[in-house]
Amino acid sequence: MSGTGEFTRTELFWDGAWRRPRSTRRLDLVSPSTEALLGSVPDADEEDVDAAVRSARTALAPGSEWTRLPQADRAEAIERLALALQARDQPIKELLAHEIGRPLHTPPRPNRAAEILRYYATLARTREVERTRPSPDPRPAGAVRSSRVRYEPVGVTAAIVPYNGTLEMGLYKVGPALATGGSVVFKPSPQAPLEAYHLAEAAVEAGIPPGVINVVTGGARAGRALVEHPGTDLVAFTGSTPTGRMIAESCGRALKPVVLELGGKSAALVLEDADLDHFSRMVPYLCFTFAGQNCFIHSRILAPRSRYDEVVDAVVTAARSITVGDPFDPDTRMGPLISAEHRDRVEDMIRTGTAEGAVVATGGGRPGHLSRGWYLEPTVFAHADNHMSISREEVFGPVTAVIPYEDEEEAVELANDSEYGLAGSVWTADPARGEALAARIDSGSVGVNTYGFNSAAPLCGRRASGLGGELGPESLHVYTRYQSLHLTDSDRATAPA
Ligand code: NAD
Repeated sequence: MSGTGEFTRTELFWDGAWRRPRSTRRLDLVSPSTEALLGSVPDADEEDVDAAVRSARTALAPGSEWTRLPQADRAEAIERLALALQARDQPIKELLAHEIGRPLHTPPRPNRAAEILRYYATLARTREVERTRPSPDPRPAGAVRSSRVRYEPVGVTAAIVPYNGTLEMGLYKVGPALATGGSVVFKPSPQAPLEAYHLAEAAVEAGIPPGVINVVTGGARAGRALVEHPGTDLVAFTGSTPTGRMIAESCGRALKPVVLELGGKSAALVLEDADLDHFSRMVPYLCFTFAGQNCFIHSRILAPRSRYDEVVDAVVTAARSITVGDPFDPDTRMGPLISAEHRDRVEDMIRTGTAEGAVVATGGGRPGHLSRGWYLEPTVFAHADNHMSISREEVFGPVTAVIPYEDEEEAVELANDSEYGLAGSVWTADPARGEALAARIDSGSVGVNTYGFNSAAPLCGRRASGLGGELGPESLHVYTRYQSLHLTDSDRATAPA
């Protein structure tokens, strides 16, 4: 198929310009809210991926414009990219409403793309590029006395992202790659590729040298080609756990470093003293952001048995307060799921939840007032336990399960009894107690009476939620390779160490 429409793009981006792909295959883009064809993009093949990787390698060739740039100028280039993307804020929001059904009028928040890039510009400015360290033990004459450790870019990063945050998750990879002087080939999801075109256009506007940022659109075939290409030096992947495992296997064989941000099954631990009004106001974000298609969302709510019914009421009230519908309607707070197949899958999981003994307290079906689009009602399960499929498997939809616990020990045990370890939260009137409990939750991120991200703090999934991490100064380490130049006394002959 090769859909034409307002959003059709015919080219890929490498070496600083739009290029006609070798592949003649196309990927259709279908609106999840209207089911209408929006357009299509190229479905890149191995040759297209090869051209993009070569372009990224050329950008790192000795003496290239990008490699000669001092860190301060590199930081400025990243800031210009932030500005160029910020200027596109409104068109990108509208695009997301069309492409993935993200509500256009969600409460205003700072431009996340610009925020992430500005953070990496700051890191670029202060980043060390080398450091000399003396040897810690006394050495005979001629032995290694000190070493100059050089921090080099890892090289070409293969950046592969899912449909639920193309630009944001792309910049989690582009940011550190640029800050360390590397280059990137970016492959968005076949379901949401259009933001990547904005990134390429912004890169041109910002004067990022040719080849530093490249974009190929495509599906699993293009992703595999990028992972397996001998010219990519690091794979930075965000997506599902099964795909992440396949990528890790391939990188393991090639001994290629890999960062994986994968699925989640996060739990909100509501303590007896929690302010349930505050908690209830947070539930739309905590459980139903982007119709639950968010790795961080909390699909398990752990409630003290003494206040179980009150917690269920708070979650149900919050779920019922969410207006589901047309992403362009100013009142809409939740749009559709990404595809008909994905909605079928989530509906299957809801049926399984009921069959396993949980009770739908609200939702569970398709909203009656919407005849087109892949909508589902915000769904809350009561009387769930931690062994049920809805409590163990990632749903990636607007479904959460309220699970009772007896005491704090059991609550921590339940929170940690999961294959996943991405996020979590503790809700309590006593922040110190909340912090102490949060430290016992075996996840990469835990909020105390809050939910969200901080660009300056690492995002590191544990177990089936990932490998390595993104964001924070820690992320630069992955994008850096080191060379130790061993030095001896200049006035003595070199002897073996
Ligand atoms: P997905 O794994 O199906 O696809 C992700 C990307 O991988 C896409 O670009 C896809 O084309 C590509 N891909 C598919 N097969 C590949 C292969 N064999 N080799 C290389 N690339 C391949 O994920 P999805 O359905 O788009 O996204 C949903 C998943 O992403 C959920 O599991 C969610 O939890 C996860 N996610 C995690 C985070 C995080 O930070 N931990 C953030 C967002 C989403």
